[in-house]
Amino acid sequence: MITPTNFYQPGLPTAEQLASWANAYFPADAAAPLTSAAPSIAGLSPAAFSPEYAPTSAPLNYAADRAPAIGAAAPVSHNEWRKDFPILNERVNGGKPLVWLDNAATTQRPLQVIERLSYYYKHENSNVHRGAHELAARSTNAYEAARQKVADFIGAPSAKNIVWVRGTTEGINLVAQAFVRPRLQAGDEIILTELEHHANIVPWQLVAAATGAVLRVAPINDAGEIILSAYENLFTPRTKFVSVAHVSNALGTITPVAELTAIAHRHGAPILVDGAQSVAHLPVNVAALGVDWFVFSGHKIFGPTGIGAVYGTDAVLKAAEPYQGGGNMIADVTFEKTQYQEYPAKFEAGTGNIADAVGLGAALDYVNAVGREKIAAYEHQLLGYTLEKLRGVKGLRIIGTAKEKASVAAFVLDSHSVEETGKFLSERGIALRAGHHCAQPAHRRFGLESSVRPSLAFYNTREEIDFLVNALRELTRSR
Ligand code: PLP
Repeated sequence: MITPTNFYQPGLPTAEQLASWANAYFPADAAAPLTSAAPSIAGLSPAAFSPEYAPTSAPLNYAADRAPAIGAAAPVSHNEWRKDFPILNERVNGGKPLVWLDNAATTQRPLQVIERLSYYYKHENSNVHRGAHELAARSTNAYEAARQKVADFIGAPSAKNIVWVRGTTEGINLVAQAFVRPRLQAGDEIILTELEHHANIVPWQLVAAATGAVLRVAPINDAGEIILSAYENLFTPRTKFVSVAHVSNALGTITPVAELTAIAHRHGAPILVDGAQSVAHLPVNVAALGVDWFVFSGHKIFGPTGIGAVYGTDAVLKAAEPYQGGGNMIADVTFEKTQYQEYPAKFEAGTGNIADAVGLGAALDYVNAVGREKIAAYEHQLLGYTLEKLRGVKGLRIIGTAKEKASVAAFVLDSHSVEETGKFLSERGIALRAGHHCAQPAHRRFGLESSVRPSLAFYNTREEIDFLVNALRELTRSR
């Protein structure tokens, strides 16, 4: 007799168990026994990732037919990871080589992720946790293996501590509605900081409007760093929750989350850390940081869009109430009463984004194979180089000069508007963000409405930065 399987209980069924159930269920198919062994994916072996980073002047990896466009100054590369990212060979705006410096908006995907998605749809596609057949076993195993990869990647104690969501925005809304809102009375307080993305402001405003709670905002200094003493001064007996970014998408500031967390806990308040901009650039360990909640988006770490993860400690996941109702999150339903599954299933109503969760797992495998410390070290050097070169451009002002920064090098020019600058660079094939980057309060702190924002990933090169800086010199000379 095949019974519904709860994949979050101890004694998780193995692929072999599921396959043997499937064989029991379909005994007639003896000629083609079902097997659970999913073949390994070509290209997913760590050896294929060229892990050795050596900033040498070795020849570029571009294939000959992708040589730099005629007439365009070429952002050539000796960065061997680039060959894993086919889109970096694209031509834009009439044949110019693409210079992708819009990584804070979204990162590009390596072949290993693209192929993993394709493999999933070719060989594994099924709904999960239901139906004892071979494809249900394959897709469930791939989906749950990806959950375990997320847990391992961020240092969570177990896959049970990971909830699938669409991304950071949905994750913050989940925590706001499922955990914080039921705990608020009129006059209670939530602490944010001045450098937050709108995704970490608006969900709290919705909760505050519904409950009569109040938002308190920790200020930042002229460098874009949170003023710790002012942050601590905001705590009162009414403080019920804290939510802060790990890295600011507008300023690049790395916030001292371990310290912010210790202060919040000293005052009895749980804390959420928005990891949208940190997870691809810094090694993150949620247990070591001591945070209660941590959220991130797959597309900011070389994975697919439409998938992200919420980490919560056992205590907060247990305490939080279901966010949405439907299939998959229930243990038993009658018209009178429904019993919910344990977490994380109780937060995952309906069919999840299975393929993209699996793709995110492949992205994390890829990042691990490249090496997180190596990525952080390479990007740190490249960001230092970028800031130094940008400072040499006449009339350029860097926005966000924190001592600890990652990936982002936002600036404004005194000679040209943000829109003019963005358009000029785009015409040369340089993709970056020119606008408010969903962080209007952070901009207004510096008397601005917008900025030009190059943001780096480990596949970017010094040559690309030189290309950007030369283009800016050309632009500023024109006025
Ligand atoms: N938080 C920060 C710091 C971000 O940079 C972003 C996106 O840019 C988000 C939240 C929202 O992420 P998503 O749009 O993937 O939900």
